[in-house]
Amino acid sequence: MKEILQDFSRIPERIAGLGELAYNLWWSWHPGAWQLFQQIDRTAWRESGNNPVRMLTEVPQVYLERAAGNAEYLRRYDIVMNRFHQYMTSKTSWFTEHYQERKPLTIAFFSPEYGLHHSLPFYAGGLGILAGDLLKESSDLGVPMVAVGFMYAEGYLHQHLDANGWQKNITELLNRATAPVVRVLDDNGEQLVVQIPYMDPPIYVAIWKVQVGRIPLYLMDTGIPMNEPSVRGISHRLYLKDQEQRLRQGIVLGIGGRKVLATLGIKYSAIHLNEGHSAFALLERVREKVERGLPFEQALRQVQETSIFTTHTPVPAAHDIHPHWLMEKYFGDYYRYLGLDWEGFLNLGACTMEHGDGFDVTAMAMRLTRFHNAVSRRHGEVARRMWQALWPALLEDEIPIDHITNGVHLGTWLNDRMASLFSRYIDQIAPNWHQIHDDPAVWEVVVEIPDQELWETHRSLKMDLFNRIRERKRRSWMEHRDEPHNLIAAGLLLDPNVLTIGFARRLCDYKRADLIFHDLDRLERIVTDRWRPVQIIFAGKAHPADELGKQILQRIYQYAQRPEFAGRIAFVEDYGEQLAHCLVQGVDVWLNNPIPQMEASGTSGMKAGMNGVLNLSILDGWWVEGYNGRNGWAFEGSPSAWERDAEDAAAIYSLLEREVIPLYYATGLDGIPHGWVRMMKESIKSIAPRYSARRMVKEYIAKYYPSVRMYAGRHIEEGFVEEAEEAVPS
Ligand SMILES: *Cc1c(COP(=O)(O)O)cnc(C)c1O
Repeated sequence: MKEILQDFSRIPERIAGLGELAYNLWWSWHPGAWQLFQQIDRTAWRESGNNPVRMLTEVPQVYLERAAGNAEYLRRYDIVMNRFHQYMTSKTSWFTEHYQERKPLTIAFFSPEYGLHHSLPFYAGGLGILAGDLLKESSDLGVPMVAVGFMYAEGYLHQHLDANGWQKNITELLNRATAPVVRVLDDNGEQLVVQIPYMDPPIYVAIWKVQVGRIPLYLMDTGIPMNEPSVRGISHRLYLKDQEQRLRQGIVLGIGGRKVLATLGIKYSAIHLNEGHSAFALLERVREKVERGLPFEQALRQVQETSIFTTHTPVPAAHDIHPHWLMEKYFGDYYRYLGLDWEGFLNLGACTMEHGDGFDVTAMAMRLTRFHNAVSRRHGEVARRMWQALWPALLEDEIPIDHITNGVHLGTWLNDRMASLFSRYIDQIAPNWHQIHDDPAVWEVVVEIPDQELWETHRSLKMDLFNRIRERKRRSWMEHRDEPHNLIAAGLLLDPNVLTIGFARRLCDYKRADLIFHDLDRLERIVTDRWRPVQIIFAGKAHPADELGKQILQRIYQYAQRPEFAGRIAFVEDYGEQLAHCLVQGVDVWLNNPIPQMEASGTSGMKAGMNGVLNLSILDGWWVEGYNGRNGWAFEGSPSAWERDAEDAAAIYSLLEREVIPLYYATGLDGIPHGWVRMMKESIKSIAPRYSARRMVKEYIAKYYPSVRMYAGRHIEEGFVEEAEEAVPS
């Protein structure tokens, strides 16, 4: 298939490769590569929102010519382009070394969200960022994979707070011309359009592609004139509220996603579902096998044995349950092609008791896959309890839901200045450490980094954060004419010398963003202490329909305006991937206090920890495994539902008063808090290897790939499992 890139004829020939580089997100996790864009012109780079496609379209031509005439620039350009082409064409990788095969088996990854870069607004939160990290890491490891998702045209919901701290959502339409996505073309040179099977009125999707290193991500777009207006909105934004549109979204993602890959001629033998929303893809696989003559039971078995389902949250709202009448409207004919009767079909999505009535798509995903996993050890326990009813004959700890603890993509989340500091020391024992960064032994040398160097690097990231906050507010002030007290609440008075706590997440109730305000007097004493003050930076969006979340936000914002908190509490607007970077690298402490067992894993604490930002967290999610007694602070959540908030808040205050604050302010004559820096080192070396996406992806492959491979291998000859092929078309 052909694709259209922007017309970049304005780029001088000598550096024309920049156009190609701009369309492969590989640049975003290789500092040398993004610096090539930045070095053309810093302001233009910033103005483009760090989006090279946009920058190359907008930047004055003379800047490009200036770069093309600079010998030093060209030297760097050649090095980066060389590395890039090597990466893309290399025939060896971790994967080929460990899974030497004539034909590697390709995995199709289905996800409703992808958080890859802020120029692509295709994510809402942690689930999407995780999917993005997984693609980047699979690319780095050479795992044969192809991914499918949606092109959300209204994915950007910018957050602005009015003078009272009430969240206003500003929708920014994706500019398809300057986003790093390309149109996939059909044989006539038109954009490829695929019809979703079984839909009446018909639904068509236009196909786009994002290149994530070696992995292609195909995106479906329903916003085209061919579609009836009522269905154009299916891919407008994430998780539509209207029940019927939501079901159609699931159908387009699962059944449509499969059709798209088939139309593109991409073969794969295994499916990995990121959360249940795409589970109709499994159903469609069963149907195709039945069409080819297999009885349902056998088709089901083949699908199960080659499908992996990762469940990401115990929160009920994240699981789609559709009423039966609606299922009948869309699957009233379809079910026959499965070789099932209507009741047999409904049973595939039968709700387990706690979930109520209707067709439960997550339950179906469990039933149609053999490999299911939760995303942390603790979440594994919770998920086994939650889904016990699906396996009534088994004891709770026999329930076949495993766990693979999440990890984050190191190249994306480890700050590049931190990375070069580590390199200076790690290179001496392991010059190839970027290849083996999931090996804890590599990180032992972190203890040898002089305290002063680590502390100064950290301080520089803190300064960057504060500058960024000021710059954002300056722009917003220009646009919205905020009142002065709003500027203070937005963080204008933050002081880089003060111990700084960060809390940034989706503002849904179970994350308890406002817990620390439980005892206002005690908090005020802590924050405004004359000798050892503390400041807290909050960020996060509430879902537009979540009134409770918006109220939590407003409360925090109003506290931030109070003079008694002395400008030491701030709420920074418009949390997203870009701000997340600055926050997880630039604060001193990362606070996490969800209601226990609701947070499946949490990943922002991993990003913080690998940058030397110390976690202060309830023992829940990933921190149950991550905390080792020396790399941050932990407290047990209160077992009492009534006293929970009071007790958990008190646990945080006393940790702050007794341990965190004294350690931070215990500086030597050189002004460096050596005890704190020691803990930073412990955090880095214990968290970076173990909570990297590299460890995670390797675990997925080691746990599931051999079984899937063996099973598929046996059936490929019989023609009942699709033949494996290299997924990555050039
Ligand atoms: C990492 C990340 C998340 C997930 O953070 P949690 O700790 O799991 O809540 C959400 N949003 C963004 C932008 C992130 O970078």
